[in-house]
Amino acid sequence: MPTEPTTRRRIAFIFPIYNEEANIDLLHRTVDEVTAPLAGRYAFSFIYVDDGSRDASLDRLTELGARDARVTVVELSRNFGHQMAVTAGLDLVDADAAIIMDSDLQDPPRVALELLEKWEEGYEVVYAQRRSRRDSPFKRFTASAFYWFLQKMAAVEIPKNTGDFRLVDRKVVDELRKYRERDRFLRGLVSYVGFRQTAVLFDRDQRNAGVTGYPLTKMLRFAADGILGFSTTPLRMITRMGYLISLLSFLGVLYVVGVKLFAPETAVPGWAFITIAMFFLGGIQIIMLGVLGSYIGRTYSQVQNRPLYTVASVRTGAGDRSAVQ
Ligand code: UDP
Ligand code: MG
Repeated sequence: MPTEPTTRRRIAFIFPIYNEEANIDLLHRTVDEVTAPLAGRYAFSFIYVDDGSRDASLDRLTELGARDARVTVVELSRNFGHQMAVTAGLDLVDADAAIIMDSDLQDPPRVALELLEKWEEGYEVVYAQRRSRRDSPFKRFTASAFYWFLQKMAAVEIPKNTGDFRLVDRKVVDELRKYRERDRFLRGLVSYVGFRQTAVLFDRDQRNAGVTGYPLTKMLRFAADGILGFSTTPLRMITRMGYLISLLSFLGVLYVVGVKLFAPETAVPGWAFITIAMFFLGGIQIIMLGVLGSYIGRTYSQVQNRPLYTVASVRTGAGDRSAVQ
């Protein structure tokens, strides 16, 4: 009699968790329900990465781990940010494919099944693309402005309206592990590594409970990581701006000489013009220094070569594994 088929492919979910105490149980119940009918074909496991939550998330996760042996709880030593939490999950995962999802139920678990179907068709990356989203108008506006800029500047094609909700094949996970940059923009990296990629459209829900872990400041930083990490266009713009201003000043010289030669009586004392020009140039120069500084800062933090995150503990249903970096 055939027992459990040995060919069950292994699928791991990766959930970054930051202050999600009110979502964890519902999240797990929902993914469990959604994946249960496929348990004959796939061996599912669930990696929860606690990114230094300040609420009872870790306790909830510990309880979850005690109830469900397929659960692994990774505890980071402090809050390292969403991208690092996902990175920790990707570094640890051992499966044929990994599905990365937000933990606030904004990414509907049933869409994960559609990602799996596409994977079965032979795609190594299946990203979930938002057909609609139910965030605030402000978030929607800033997000679309960001994607517009990113498309204009980035050296790789980064699909619009995608978050980190996606399935990646083992091959892609192996590749991603080689990218140890500190200022991480994972969705850009995934585009960068290539392989066969496709999209599944979905409607993004509202956050179930709790508050966003991405206030405006973090969002701006994240946007900068996306643009600076995948483009040197801002650096080239400095040169272009320099040319433009030089050209303008040359026209200015022609104008002044013209006035002196042909209409000296219309010449006015130039203090206003000089003041404006001074502030204008000063402003431009400081902006350019800022652009240079952004790249230098990133270079500096990269050469320090610190570990990306620190794991405090890893616990699976099978027991403890001691701390690694
Ligand atoms: N998150 C994290 N570390 C952080 C901030 C967020 O691991 O420092 C997780 C969070 O728990 C969620 C996902 O990243 O699972 C997306 O965060 P959030 O929903 O707060 O972002 P938003 O959807 O508002 O952009
Ligand atoms: Mg969210």
